[in-house]
Amino acid sequence: MALRTLDDFNLKDKNVLIRVDMNVPIHNGQVTDSTRLSRAVPTILEVLEKGGKPILLSHFGRPTRGFDLTMSTQQAATALSNKLKKRVHFASSCIGETAQSAVKTLPVGDVLLLENTRFHQGEKKNDPEFASELAKLGDIFVSDTFSTAHRAHASVEAIAHIMPSCAGRLMEEEISKLENALSTPEKPVMAIVGGAKVSSKLLLLENLIGPMDKIVIGGGMANTFLAAKGYNIGQSLCEHDMQDTARSILDNATKMDCEIILPIDIVVAKEFTANTNFEILPSNSCPNDSIILDAGPETVKLIKKHLNNSKTIIWNGPLGAFEVPPFNKATDEAAKYVAELTQLGKILSVAGGGDTVSALNGSSSADKFTYISTAGGAFLEWLEGKTLPGVSVLIS
Ligand code: AMP
Repeated sequence: MALRTLDDFNLKDKNVLIRVDMNVPIHNGQVTDSTRLSRAVPTILEVLEKGGKPILLSHFGRPTRGFDLTMSTQQAATALSNKLKKRVHFASSCIGETAQSAVKTLPVGDVLLLENTRFHQGEKKNDPEFASELAKLGDIFVSDTFSTAHRAHASVEAIAHIMPSCAGRLMEEEISKLENALSTPEKPVMAIVGGAKVSSKLLLLENLIGPMDKIVIGGGMANTFLAAKGYNIGQSLCEHDMQDTARSILDNATKMDCEIILPIDIVVAKEFTANTNFEILPSNSCPNDSIILDAGPETVKLIKKHLNNSKTIIWNGPLGAFEVPPFNKATDEAAKYVAELTQLGKILSVAGGGDTVSALNGSSSADKFTYISTAGGAFLEWLEGKTLPGVSVLIS
């Protein structure tokens, strides 16, 4: 059972359909974080070097009713062209006459970017007919989108059944780096799980209790655990209906000898605005009219102590509402410390998830981690031990 790769194909004079992830954040027409574009570059350049014509497929955002200018992949074309240092042509549809004639007229050495696959209903339905329309555009399909591999969508899954297909270099790298780091991690192994809600990471928490020695729970989801312990959490984000679940996670963790580390102090404010007045309080003392927006300095010290005693760290989700300063502080400080220990060769660190990567970029720590996955949902599902449809279809 092995992943098919670019090494298995002769790409010379072939139209190579590459599924990339160009779903990058855009603000005022500018790409604000081009990590995903940079990571798509090696496969595209390799296809060009080997004499193939790269034709790029991608989704962008979550359009619900067909074409929507704000979700056109064209917005990322210039940024991609700058990364590749190649001309990137654009076709305003990913199927039909428009796409086919753009493929026919694509000059050797240039790249063609097709419009958002999600403008067609068949994409999310994994519709074989829509996939066949896409398949008409190429001789070989290369999937370089680990970040969408958890979704059985037509340009990720169905298409790989109907034409010769393989993994791109980023897909290969994501899978091998995650497997190397996490299939038999050096112990003690600790997870840092933060973010907004327990409900979106419930399965992750349940599945991490077995393999992890310790789990730090931070961010908005920690509030649900604090409330489950009977602490007042004021006006904080909390899923009150998840309190029983939180209690059973804590009980299971005790039974399975997994230490759960919750905030011991909190940063609270009366309103959620940048540079507002804040207070640092013990985690059982949030006033009725306040919101918990970050973990406090004693919690960061505690996390650092546990990091010193760990060999492997997996990180998903920020420890606070990091987009709004100063509530980025706990995330930044913990991230810098993970980066430092990684650089000293004391720990192996792996992080994934869109928000997580942008939080780590904010403290200039991301490039000092052992490995950063471009994936959010797929990273979580991979950690949860699920089979990813966009990966299994590339294995023979
Ligand atoms: P997720 O996508 O689940 O990883 O959640 C990331 C989001 O959680 C970010 O937008 C953070 O601002 C948010 N978040 C983290 N901590 C808090 C908190 N204490 N209160 C409100 N939102 C938070």
